[in-house]
Amino acid sequence: MAHTATDATPSRVAVLGVPVDCLSLSETVDRIEHLMASGRQHQIVTVNPEFLVAARYHRAFRAVLRRASLATADGAGVVLAARLLGRPVRGRVTGADLLPLLAERCALRGWGVFFLGAAPGVAALAAAALQQHAPGLRVAGVWSGSPVLADEPAILEHLRLARPEVLLVAYGAPQQDLWIARNLTRTSVQVAMGVGGAFDFLAGRKPRAPRLLRQAGLEWIYRLWLEPWRYKRMLALPAFVILLARDLLAQRVLYRHGGHY
Ligand code: UDP
Repeated sequence: MAHTATDATPSRVAVLGVPVDCLSLSETVDRIEHLMASGRQHQIVTVNPEFLVAARYHRAFRAVLRRASLATADGAGVVLAARLLGRPVRGRVTGADLLPLLAERCALRGWGVFFLGAAPGVAALAAAALQQHAPGLRVAGVWSGSPVLADEPAILEHLRLARPEVLLVAYGAPQQDLWIARNLTRTSVQVAMGVGGAFDFLAGRKPRAPRLLRQAGLEWIYRLWLEPWRYKRMLALPAFVILLARDLLAQRVLYRHGGHY
C-alpha cells in the first residue's frame, strides 16, 4: 500500500494523533480521482470520534488510520475538533454521503466497484440503489462474506475474478479497516474504503437521521434512539471530549512556552 500522508496531500489536521483531511465532499471525490491516477493502492478511512477513542487503545487500528491515504471527517465531533484546532473542515464527509458522488465519478470514469460486507442481500440492494443514482455505474461484484480470517481466501478469490478498481467494505470499524489493511496488496484494487453502515442506508434497511439533526451534528442521537444497543459504543463520545480537551490544553501550554504570547 502506498502511504501518502505527505506527498501532494492537501491540508490535514491531527485529531488525537490521527490525521484527518480538511476536504469538502466534492473535494474528497476529486482527491479519490487523484489517488486512482497514482498507480498505487490506497486505503480510505472515514473517521469519527469512536474511531479516535478506539485507536487510542488499539495499536493496529491506530497504525491503519495513520497510514491511510485519505481520512475523511465522518463524525460531527471530528469536524468540531478540527475547527477548535484551527483547521476548519467545511462539514462532515460520511460514507453514506460520499458514495452517491463517488458512484457518479466511477460511472464517468468506468471504474468497477465491488461491494463487500453487510447482511446477505444488502450489498446488492445498495449497489442497485447507486446504479439507479449513477446510471452506467459498473458493479464488479457484491458479496456479504464476513471479516473473519477463515473467509479471506474466498473473498480474495471473488475479488480476483471481479477485478474491481474500487472496493467498498461494510464490516463496521475497526474490522473493515483492518481487513483492508491486511488484504489490499493481495488484490488488484486501487482504492478501498471502509463504509460502516452506508450499505444499510443505501439499501433502505435503516433510515438516516432527518437532515436537520444531521446538520446539527446530532445523527448519533437518532441512531441511539433506533438502536439503543449502541449505547456502549456511544460511551466513546464523553471519552473523546475529555481526550480532546486534554490535547487542546496541552497544545495551548506548548504554544505559551514557545513564547508566542
Ligand atoms: N457487518 C458485517 N459483518 C460483521 C459485522 C458487521 O457485515 O461481522 C456489517 C453490518 O451488517 C453493517 C456494517 O457492517 O452493515 C456496520 O454497520 P454499523 O452501523 O455498525 O457501522 P458504523 O456506521 O456504526 O461504523
